[in-house]
Amino acid sequence: MRIHSDFPGGNIVVSEIGDGVVRLERDLRDTEGDWFYWAFCAEDTASLAGETVTFLFPSSCRVSRFGAAVSHDLAHWSWTESGSGDRFTYTFSEGEDQLYFAHHMLYDPLRFDDLCRRNGLRREVFCSSVKGRPLPAVRFGHGDKWILLTARHHACESTGSYVLEAVTETLLEDLPEGYSVLAVPFVDYDGVLDGDQGKNRRPHDHNRDYTDAPVYEVIRELIAFGKTHDLRYSFDFHSPWHMGEQNDYVFFSRSTEAMEPFTDRFGEIMKRETAGNALKYTGAWDVGPNEMWNDETSPNSKNYFSKQPSVRLSVTMETPYFGVEDGNGKISQESMGELGRAFGRSVAAYIRETECGI
Ligand SMILES: [Zn+2]
Repeated sequence: MRIHSDFPGGNIVVSEIGDGVVRLERDLRDTEGDWFYWAFCAEDTASLAGETVTFLFPSSCRVSRFGAAVSHDLAHWSWTESGSGDRFTYTFSEGEDQLYFAHHMLYDPLRFDDLCRRNGLRREVFCSSVKGRPLPAVRFGHGDKWILLTARHHACESTGSYVLEAVTETLLEDLPEGYSVLAVPFVDYDGVLDGDQGKNRRPHDHNRDYTDAPVYEVIRELIAFGKTHDLRYSFDFHSPWHMGEQNDYVFFSRSTEAMEPFTDRFGEIMKRETAGNALKYTGAWDVGPNEMWNDETSPNSKNYFSKQPSVRLSVTMETPYFGVEDGNGKISQESMGELGRAFGRSVAAYIRETECGI
């Protein structure tokens, strides 16, 4: 068996491939403190058919309660349903010669290209990434009022990408009159492709860069966009910490105190729209302004845009990496899409309800 990270999102350090046991660890790179993201490809595994291999990490916060995420093609993902904490096991089947395993379900950037193709959207170059890659964005609509959708301020947080995709498609079908959408799906594009953690990147990560002197061009461009357009709404999609407590559920990381009444109202619509979903927004796990880590002076996307005079609502939604079995709130590509569609419907409903003065 050969293990490598040579694919979009790959991240692994292998210390030993032994008999039935592989010892490995995530690659922290320029992250300050600990983080948990890893993703690797196992190749030349045909000779292992029928054998069970244990993949062992040196930390109990590396593997979900459903085991590892597994894929044959980087496009379709499920859970191994074996192991948790510091390990997972996998029994190789006949003919399986290449597999991808990861901390959670990856979102291949090619999937965003498919979304553009399906919907006739032009994938534009928003700016250059730090490493000079063309950082993609799409815009659509005919209005001069704008809705901004962003994900991957923290590179590894791919559950937010599934949500952004479905919000985008829902708004394409039903965009309130007078509005346009700018979607920037991979804010830390280098980190997404290179498989970085992204969170707590030194000197600071992309979601701490909304300052007077941003170090990342993409943040300078997002700030400039807000200043030169009638930006009304900003929605930023993230994944939370590894697992446990609110990290197992959908929740809002709310912005400023001044934004609270508007977030409350939007939250009520989200409760209604997600009531029949596997992944529900209940409001019970929200982290309000100045609660826990959520300091409203932190220079992040939601706080920055909530303070712009034209902006009526700015909020971050956190979508768990794994979810829970209980209440069917388990993460799958389908359940994340369903959540994103509900979010998209909620945005359209919120705009119509508030603009009609209901
Ligand atoms: Zn995040």
